[in-house]
Amino acid sequence: MFRKFAILGMVLVLFAGCEAVQDRLVRRAAESAFVPDRLDLADDGDLHVVLCGTGSPLPDPNRAAACTAVLAAGRMFLVDVGPGSWENVQRWRLPRERLSAVLLTHFHSDHIGDLGESLTQSWIGGRRVPLDVIGPPGVEAVVEGFSRAYAADAGYRTAHHGVQEMPLEGARLIAKPAPIPAGQADVVVFDADGLVITAFPVDHAPVEPAYGYRFDYKGRSVVISGDTKPSPSIVEHSRGADVLIHEALAAHIIRIGNQVASEQGNTRVAKLAADILDYHTTPAEAAKEAREAGVKMLVYTHLVPGAMPPVLGPAVFLRGVESGDDLEIVLGEDGLLLNLPAESDAIEVDSVD
Ligand SMILES: [Zn+2]
Ligand SMILES: [Zn+2]
Repeated sequence: MFRKFAILGMVLVLFAGCEAVQDRLVRRAAESAFVPDRLDLADDGDLHVVLCGTGSPLPDPNRAAACTAVLAAGRMFLVDVGPGSWENVQRWRLPRERLSAVLLTHFHSDHIGDLGESLTQSWIGGRRVPLDVIGPPGVEAVVEGFSRAYAADAGYRTAHHGVQEMPLEGARLIAKPAPIPAGQADVVVFDADGLVITAFPVDHAPVEPAYGYRFDYKGRSVVISGDTKPSPSIVEHSRGADVLIHEALAAHIIRIGNQVASEQGNTRVAKLAADILDYHTTPAEAAKEAREAGVKMLVYTHLVPGAMPPVLGPAVFLRGVESGDDLEIVLGEDGLLLNLPAESDAIEVDSVD
């Protein structure tokens, strides 16, 4: 048996050494790499959600930082673009040229790190018009900084490929600050072709303002919490929604980390671990809010901590979460695809990969 494999291996090595065979293999790889983007997700008349990053600032090889793609009405929106998330968007062939706007919930680095890549790579992917960046007041400074950092890149590409292929307009970010008017609970930040996006305040103090977003399209609705501790605003804006995509920090796990750091004399890490407990939401608290709002499905994202020993599994992260027929609970992972067919009750859970 071993001899058979050894001979087969030698034959493969010999053939791979032949340039004609190598080129044929490369050609086959290129043919499978150059496939069109998933325009169907934007164009099929339904509402779709793809989790393009379910991690947090803590390193996790399986989770990019915060990013949720929402696709409807011929467009794609990215709610937050944390580090590593753009690579997911591109690897899964989400429709880059249909990227209509990036919506930032707030300006922590794990939510904005890939703004430059989102701009540049969607431009390379065929987007020819400026990219809107919608967010709380303060988004202007973030956009100005990224614009300056990426200006040289834009110049090189236009000079190299020509304005026909790479029009400079496509390399431009436009800040769209969306203050919530005094006396109002929220503000509509997009309204076209049946799709309405509403920004509402959440509580991530001392980060202020911080927003969540609600998408309504053809009788379907998805709410994205952003980073927040439990807040009446989340319940109010999630009422009757199909899906609530909520951040989650497993406080019982972080507390153990805090203890260990203290015992090891690592007071700095112990303090940071203790600090983050007061501006996030535990899985059980998010489930309570989802039930209060009457949503059909709760999807956890922005998992803190994300990476855990495999033997512990989701049950440990979700400790204290009550299960029941009234609420479907999903622990988010990168690549999770939700299909919400127009004017129906169905929520299909799938994978984009
Ligand atoms: Zn965050
Ligand atoms: Zn944050």
